[in-house]
Amino acid sequence: MSRFLSSQLANLEPYVPGEQPQERKYIKLNTNEYPYPPSPKVRDILDTKEIDDLRLYPDPQTRGLVTAMSEYYGLREEQILLGNGSDEILAFFFMAFCDQKRKIGFPDISYGFYPVYASLFGIDALKIPLREDFSINAEDYFNLDRNIVIANPNAPTGLYLELEDIERIAQTNPDHVVLIDEAYIDFGGASALTLLPKYENLLVCGTFSKSRALAGARIGFAFGSPDLIEDLNKIKFSFNPYNINRLSLLAGVASIEDNHYFESHLAKIIETREETSRALRELDFYVTDSKTNFLFAKHEKMAGEDLYLKLKDQGILVRHFNQERISDYLRITIGTPEEMDEFLETMTAIIRGDLT
Ligand code: PMP
Repeated sequence: MSRFLSSQLANLEPYVPGEQPQERKYIKLNTNEYPYPPSPKVRDILDTKEIDDLRLYPDPQTRGLVTAMSEYYGLREEQILLGNGSDEILAFFFMAFCDQKRKIGFPDISYGFYPVYASLFGIDALKIPLREDFSINAEDYFNLDRNIVIANPNAPTGLYLELEDIERIAQTNPDHVVLIDEAYIDFGGASALTLLPKYENLLVCGTFSKSRALAGARIGFAFGSPDLIEDLNKIKFSFNPYNINRLSLLAGVASIEDNHYFESHLAKIIETREETSRALRELDFYVTDSKTNFLFAKHEKMAGEDLYLKLKDQGILVRHFNQERISDYLRITIGTPEEMDEFLETMTAIIRGDLT
């Protein structure tokens, strides 16, 4: 730390992304990326004209992609804001709606960026414990008197909270903003965007990083009332007006336009998830009922860290969190069927003690 760092940031613990190793080729099941490439239409965006146009700033209104998304999701354009990944949307949410008086609440086990942003922006954060089985008790959030952010499905647990529960949370907190982070919604749940016409305090965010195979393009989005979106835009235009680059805008449109590719590949991931989950249970794993593109699992007899290290040794990366309540679990991203076969074969050998 230099002596120039703001004293307010001295205790900030930054977010720790999953490993992105360059030195060895791993089967990468650790950062919830998509195992298939994006739609072939995304590849077609890179022609000479688009490369020449990189000399120009992108459209700060991000119009092409907002128009395509408004048609796809049945929303008005004023209800959509794009972010440089949904991480940026989350940051805009904290900056726009949270302060000393308008505090934040979220589950104790959830996406690791929520406490980091709370700390970065100096916001008091209430961590609300999940039940023993990692499910969210919606009643804990009724009349909370704070802004709320909930990942649905939740990460890293994979569990989905029914829309009726989300609705009651929005209903009982009319004077606070309720943000539902739907990074994984396409893998099994119903989106809360259908509740938007009823609740002016509801905001939904999502991403092209998971179900649209575009993590490297950094495209996130928020849906909400035109007023909430206007507030978020105030932050965006005070921070980084050109937050989505030209190539990502085009890639996003190409992805939205290829619905067949989107749906058929999602179906493959879901099928592979269910098969992998069954196989892990046969190996005496407890596996949560995931509605995402990852599994959250612990073994009856073997510690999470041990399994993580042994898999890594064999060239397979999964995510292990050295965190209270979940240190015996692994978060395993769903790869291709071939990758999951290799993962299961290695896991079987580890459990049987064939690998030391
Ligand atoms: N929310 C959740 C729950 C996530 O797991 C992630 C991925 N790390 C994000 C948001 C952010 O994703 P991105 O910035 O790639 O859109």
